[in-house]
Amino acid sequence: MARKATPPKKPPRRAPAAELTRAGRIPARRPKAPGARPPRPWSAAEVEEAFRRFRVADPEPKGELAHVNPYTLLVAVVLSAQATDAGVNKATRPLFAQVDTPAKMLTLGEERLRDAIKTIGLYRNKAKNVIELSRRLVAEHGGEVPRDRAALEALPGVGRKTANVVLNIAFGEPTIAVDTHIFRVGNRTGLAPGLTPFEVEMALETVVPEPYKRHAHHWLILHGRYTCIARKPLCERCLINDLCRWPGKSAGPTP
Ligand code: SF4
Repeated sequence: MARKATPPKKPPRRAPAAELTRAGRIPARRPKAPGARPPRPWSAAEVEEAFRRFRVADPEPKGELAHVNPYTLLVAVVLSAQATDAGVNKATRPLFAQVDTPAKMLTLGEERLRDAIKTIGLYRNKAKNVIELSRRLVAEHGGEVPRDRAALEALPGVGRKTANVVLNIAFGEPTIAVDTHIFRVGNRTGLAPGLTPFEVEMALETVVPEPYKRHAHHWLILHGRYTCIARKPLCERCLINDLCRWPGKSAGPTP
């Protein structure tokens, strides 16, 4: 009898090539051209100065995902995977006006939840996860969102990034959730280079001064979303232009 061919093993997951390219990876992590030098790392004084400027420009930065309590924040972040905040808000604003606790979500049920979020990508799977995480919150946490990384990451659809966002925004913890924008900014500027979001997070944990950690996540995400954008960064209006190490940057704001 002929034996079935064994399917080839999947290669280990890495950040997509397109993302790495858009990230404007600093030369230190690229195959180096002969004689190429890695950029000078940021000094502590430069990091302090960058965050001082972010704080002056926006002392109390806020996230852009609509929510009314820690539970709706958790649901919104789960729904935001591979979707825009604006797209998620459009669906969740009317939803959260009616459904703002895990118990109410279970009463709503998976079918009606699916219908409410059908404009969001991957909505079928996300609806399944939201119902199951709501069930677990009721059964295991008294209907409350736990202020605990391990407990959060044990919920369906919740990974390290989602846990970091919830811990930071709902509970004021100094966590830094690395999304595509922060991954790009960390690498492109040379502030916190890394091959994976986790490496960038660890690099930021190391370099960001304590007084700025609480809001670092929002400052960097907003900087990446509105200024240091993927395709054509707006270097001419960038607050940290003089500090940025990206060789492709253009001239900064005129003093
Ligand atoms: S100078 Fe340009 S590339 Fe550097 S952080 Fe600012 S916007 Fe981004």
